[in-house]
Amino acid sequence: VLRIQGMSQWILWEVAGLFENVGTVQDGIGTIAREREVQDAPDAAPLTVTRGEIVFDKASFHYGKVKGVIDALDLTIRPGEKIGLIGRSGAGKSTLVNLLLRFYDLESGSIRIDGQDIARVRQDDLRAHIGVVTQDTSLLHRSIYENVAYGKPEASEAEVIEALRKAHALEFVQGLEDRDGRSGLQAQVGERGVKLSGGQRQRIAIARVLLKNAPILLLDEATSALDSEVEAAIQDSLFDLMEGKTVIAIAHRLSTIAAMDRLIVMDKGRIIEEGRHEELLTRGGLYAQLWSHQSGGFLQSAAEV
Ligand code: ADP
Ligand code: MG
Repeated sequence: VLRIQGMSQWILWEVAGLFENVGTVQDGIGTIAREREVQDAPDAAPLTVTRGEIVFDKASFHYGKVKGVIDALDLTIRPGEKIGLIGRSGAGKSTLVNLLLRFYDLESGSIRIDGQDIARVRQDDLRAHIGVVTQDTSLLHRSIYENVAYGKPEASEAEVIEALRKAHALEFVQGLEDRDGRSGLQAQVGERGVKLSGGQRQRIAIARVLLKNAPILLLDEATSALDSEVEAAIQDSLFDLMEGKTVIAIAHRLSTIAAMDRLIVMDKGRIIEEGRHEELLTRGGLYAQLWSHQSGGFLQSAAEV
């Protein structure tokens, strides 16, 4: 269990799949308990997302003794803009995503969505407007159906099936059977149910986010557990989903995000370069270095990947 800034109370968050990096436990009914880092203000307001603009305004944050994890970071993401976030391991990319979800409060500065400080809105409401897929997805100990419908409880079975199909998960789901003989969408996930591989869990999480269809999308290594063939196929569904949404995508494989509207390169909690793929290659900085490393020493254009 995570213990960073002193002990605080436990809460139950009925949102799965977001907390894998911070220590989670699941109880018998499939809720996820996590130590609460932040509290709703007594007068917390609902969040209204009309345009989907995201502003980090001199945002600073650190964990315990690790200083400068996010260091006075300024970043304005336009409504509908698609950002690729790049940087070496430890640069602060996932932290930035977690701050936008308000898993932690800033030390100073603010984060605003359509002008509303996220520290002043209801957390449930904030998260209801954000679709998230991370590297390592934990699922609820419930049926496949419930796991997908999580982001949209009123969804019909047809919608759940369509989301699974787009996430290239329908085929394997149809082949599942748990110990009690429940199969397909009704198969139970977890210790006493079906065991899924990392790639299968990730596809369930992608189906969930496709169904949820939230105006803001955060993809933190969202396809990292998939083999490249499946990844390429799912990428199309994700690109369709991104249409009209504000997106922050992090990917170790730079070719998966090279075509985003703007690439932001982070180092030690700061932005050190930004621009489009071609501009950053010409610049010859960290992005060009990382790109050339991944391309086996050859600088290719985005069109070639
Ligand atoms: P990235 O996603 O770019 O690899 P992270 O945001 O995960 O980077 O990490 C940024 C820095 O914060 C690193 O030094 C990392 O070790 C530290 N860090 C990340 N998560 C935690 C945590 N839960 N507790 C303490 N330190 C953390
Ligand atoms: Mg990360």
